[in-house]
Amino acid sequence: MKIKLFKRYFKIDNVVYKQLTFRGYSKKNMRPHKISIKRKKNFNLRYQKNKFVLFLNEDGRLDNDLPLDNHISELIKKFIRTEVFKNLSFNNSISIDNPITLEPSTILIVKVKNFVGDEELFDFGKIISSFKDGNAVSIIWSIDKPFISTLRTVQLRSYVFNKLKSRPKGSKDSAETTFFLDEKFKFSKLDLQRNDALADGVFLSRDLVNLPANILNTETFEKELKKFKKIGIKVRVLNEKDIKAIGMNLLFAVGKGSSNPSKVLVLEWKGGKSGTQPTALVGKGVVFDSGGLSLKSSSGMVDMAMDMAGAAVVAGVIKSVAQSNLKVNLVGLIGLVENMPGPSAMRPGDVIKSLKGDLVQVNNTDAEGRLVLGDLLWYAQQKFKPKRIFDLATLTGAIIIALGKEYAGVFSNNDKFCDEFLSVCDQSNEKAWRLPLDKKFGDALSSKITDITNVGGSQGSSIVAAMFLNNFVKKETPWIHLDIAGVAKNTETIFSKNGATAWGVVALFEYFQRFP
Ligand SMILES: [Zn+2]
Repeated sequence: MKIKLFKRYFKIDNVVYKQLTFRGYSKKNMRPHKISIKRKKNFNLRYQKNKFVLFLNEDGRLDNDLPLDNHISELIKKFIRTEVFKNLSFNNSISIDNPITLEPSTILIVKVKNFVGDEELFDFGKIISSFKDGNAVSIIWSIDKPFISTLRTVQLRSYVFNKLKSRPKGSKDSAETTFFLDEKFKFSKLDLQRNDALADGVFLSRDLVNLPANILNTETFEKELKKFKKIGIKVRVLNEKDIKAIGMNLLFAVGKGSSNPSKVLVLEWKGGKSGTQPTALVGKGVVFDSGGLSLKSSSGMVDMAMDMAGAAVVAGVIKSVAQSNLKVNLVGLIGLVENMPGPSAMRPGDVIKSLKGDLVQVNNTDAEGRLVLGDLLWYAQQKFKPKRIFDLATLTGAIIIALGKEYAGVFSNNDKFCDEFLSVCDQSNEKAWRLPLDKKFGDALSSKITDITNVGGSQGSSIVAAMFLNNFVKKETPWIHLDIAGVAKNTETIFSKNGATAWGVVALFEYFQRFP
């Protein structure tokens, strides 16, 4: 298929970026919540009658350039003089009634310090998002800092999963958000476009994780990702025949008990210089994890359609990067399997030869994610010689014991690479915490009859799992393993209210902008 491209160029910090618009994939087709940018002089009565947000600093001075209706400006001035405002602590808000419409609690006043910190910009987004509550809202941006963090938080928190409701309350949720800026306030259109592209990837990733396993199986997942061809991503599918021929026996063994065929999707984005080694993104895509013959309990199984969250994050990142036309080379390797008991299912005790050549004894069929990743990591290195690898997986329940549902677990064989990534996580507000990758923990995986087993004991078992993966990573390949079992779903983050979070899409997107 030939793709018609319309090229435009942007220059930021002397770097020329090419912005592409793809036929059939215009901005109109993107799903993220619409955010408009206007100048303050256009803040007319229409907007003043709806919900709006004002930031007032400790001096409590109202912007004179704001074309506020007299009734409203008098009321706000009066409010500033009250004890209520004086006693309000910083970064807290209070809502007052609109004197024109008499609608209760429709004007939100946020009290801010004279110098606002970067982290507070995200908190403002959260405040605005809960005030907005599905309605149209206008924000008078009087803060002397870029508003992208605030805008991103509002946008990503606007996500609603209503695909499976017969009567979705869609119109209310898509109510517009408008930022009103000072005449002289500078902003980059490219940043806004990239933010839309990022939100689109985040929303896709969340949809995939939120869908149940009878709807999102290995085949519908494949169909969804084949749409990426429209945005310039090369998509290749390895079916069971190819998987066996290549020798990815560990991955293949996991899916043997299911009637859904196993697949490996290879996604390539070549935005960088040709010939530069790509970064590999490896994702665990277990579309449902029953545990296999080492069957989970009913309560432990109930949310296991989310066991493909790693794959969903890889898909989201690559989509966002491609739509932003970032100058980076990426290869995504997604292993799609379903772990079910069945007549052909692998049994506890089975010995399987990995792609690397090691013989692995499977002592617990519920420790299947590491089998999928082991072969994919080896394949990534043999086939693509990546300059670095990220893998993402809902790998262990133990990571929730260690870090709760707040932090993703980070493991790495390369301090510099890991420090770079953690600093980006910190700035982009996705929480991550490094745990040791210590050889001692690998001892738990020693086997009497084969080279390695797939489970150790319960002590430090997230680290033991990471050590299993480490066995399939060459020393010279910088590698980060992200255990996202705690943060992928059903936890509130700064960017998500509930359901799937798409943890990692934001941090990785930002990482590739800074470290292509
Ligand atoms: Zn499992």
